[in-house]
Amino acid sequence: MRERRIVVPGERLGVVEEFIPGEGVREERGTLYSIYLGSLQEKDINVSVRPFKKPILPLRPGEIALGEIRSADRSVYHVHLTALVKPRRALLSPPVQAVMSKRPPNVGARPSDIVLVRINSIDNGTVTVTMGGPPDLGVILSFCPTCGAPLRKGVGYTLVCERCGKVYLDKKISSRYGWNPFKEGLIRYVKR
Ligand SMILES: [Zn+2]
Repeated sequence: MRERRIVVPGERLGVVEEFIPGEGVREERGTLYSIYLGSLQEKDINVSVRPFKKPILPLRPGEIALGEIRSADRSVYHVHLTALVKPRRALLSPPVQAVMSKRPPNVGARPSDIVLVRINSIDNGTVTVTMGGPPDLGVILSFCPTCGAPLRKGVGYTLVCERCGKVYLDKKISSRYGWNPFKEGLIRYVKR
């Protein structure tokens, strides 16, 4: 058995001719890659990656993070934080789960929105975030709930769908709206 190896998301682990991919491993054109930051588990020809449970960087209140709203219930949004943006810049892998109140200034956000948020508090492992505060906090990318196209920023807090013509004006939009964190690898996918 080889010694324990730490792997990062996207790291090449081998090819399908060598290994059977398990948990935390994805295959692309016959090559196997890690999905997580974690430790590589090899048993005979089975390979898997066990993600680190805790973020490598403990979050601190006041830091600015990038996240994706994954779901909402009656009173809160569930946000996946994928990167720290300010003052530290680092990927959070696996994403850190956070909750955000649905009250103002967060009202109107919806699942699939990409948001810049401030870490409010960390209490017994529960991270709370908010879009309140400086103008760069808020929604930086949003998709049309009707047709799924990315929305363009209009005047003030309006968002416009260029495909179906709908206009939305119900949420706090970041002054950095349109900044593309996908390009920088800070967010990898959006579930719609
Ligand atoms: Zn639309």
